[in-house]
Amino acid sequence: MFEKEAGGNIVNTGFPSEQPSQRSTVSMLAGTITVGADGVSSKVRGALGAQYLTWNYGQMGLVATVRLSEPTENKVAWQRFLPTGPVALLPLTDELSSLVWSINSDEARRLLGLTNECFVDALNEALWKQYPRHPVVDTATRRLDNILDSLMLRSSAVRQLQPSVAEIEPDSRAAFPLAFGHSTRYVGAGVVLIGDAAHRVHPLAGQGVNLGFGDVKCLTELLAESVYSGQNIGSKSPLLCYETSRQRHNVSTMLAIDGLQKLYSTEAAPIVVLRSLGLQLTHALAPLKSAIMNHAAV
Ligand SMILES: Cc1cc2nc3c(=O)[nH]c(=O)nc-3n(C[C@H](O)[C@H](O)[C@H](O)COP(=O)(O)OP(=O)(O)OC[C@H]3O[C@@H](n4cnc5c(N)ncnc54)[C@H](O)[C@@H]3O)c2cc1C
Repeated sequence: MFEKEAGGNIVNTGFPSEQPSQRSTVSMLAGTITVGADGVSSKVRGALGAQYLTWNYGQMGLVATVRLSEPTENKVAWQRFLPTGPVALLPLTDELSSLVWSINSDEARRLLGLTNECFVDALNEALWKQYPRHPVVDTATRRLDNILDSLMLRSSAVRQLQPSVAEIEPDSRAAFPLAFGHSTRYVGAGVVLIGDAAHRVHPLAGQGVNLGFGDVKCLTELLAESVYSGQNIGSKSPLLCYETSRQRHNVSTMLAIDGLQKLYSTEAAPIVVLRSLGLQLTHALAPLKSAIMNHAAV
């Protein structure tokens, strides 16, 4: 239960049935739930008093709206993993895409300071520059291709080329620090955290919003069930169910994303071989690909 102290501070005092308030100067919000959907610096999380596990990636996510050189049936999201971090173009319309470019913080500040024309040049170079490939990686991926061919598992899909960018929409450039963050608790009495207030991930997997949508779906279903069965909307059991269910899903997803970030932060040949083969296999094995997509969709 959240209570307001005489000084105006909000404090969390436990579930109502566990700890009835003895204070005389409080106003109590009975039969309601406070949903903390206030993002990475959540004040609701602070008031809940939950521990927050966090580390920085030393990168910023540079975002912008960009106009493609040629209008296409723009429905493919592109991501290129560069030695400096991933650069992604996410379709908005046939002509516009949303840029998410993860890059070390100094370079992000430099890119923010460029003129629009110079920024577009730097972006096109990031999208198109050819890097020398390690011969061991080439040999390993070619051999796996041959094996997949002989097992008739190689995808027949034609590989499309990434788009080029013609210009950037005025005043659409901004950069945000990237970090991992997880609240050890999502719920208290009459209070629940959702979205980035509860968890924060690197954008390389495009999963931040999905995790939040999953929280909302789970919470609304559990609350509806509890109200239909005659319980108070702030009852403990649906909130604890929400926390258990979402932490089980979110923590595994977050650790996988953090692992991917680390996997793609190195150019050591054995790691590059492993991640290239992993990507090739995932692409070839439709059930594995579907399982990953299904997990990401809830
Ligand atoms: C650079 C970058 C790129 C990203 N790219 C992707 C991507 O491609 N795909 C993806 O799925 N996710 C992406 N994400 C993550 C995604 O943006 C977040 O996961 C998502 O926005 C979280 O939504 P939210 O509603 O929980 O929090 P937010 O979007 O942060 O919304 C919180 C809201 O609460 C408001 N607020 C805060 N405090 C108060 C207060 N005291 N009173 C009133 N209002 C308050 C804020 O103003 C804000 O509007 C990216 C994140 C970054 C930083």
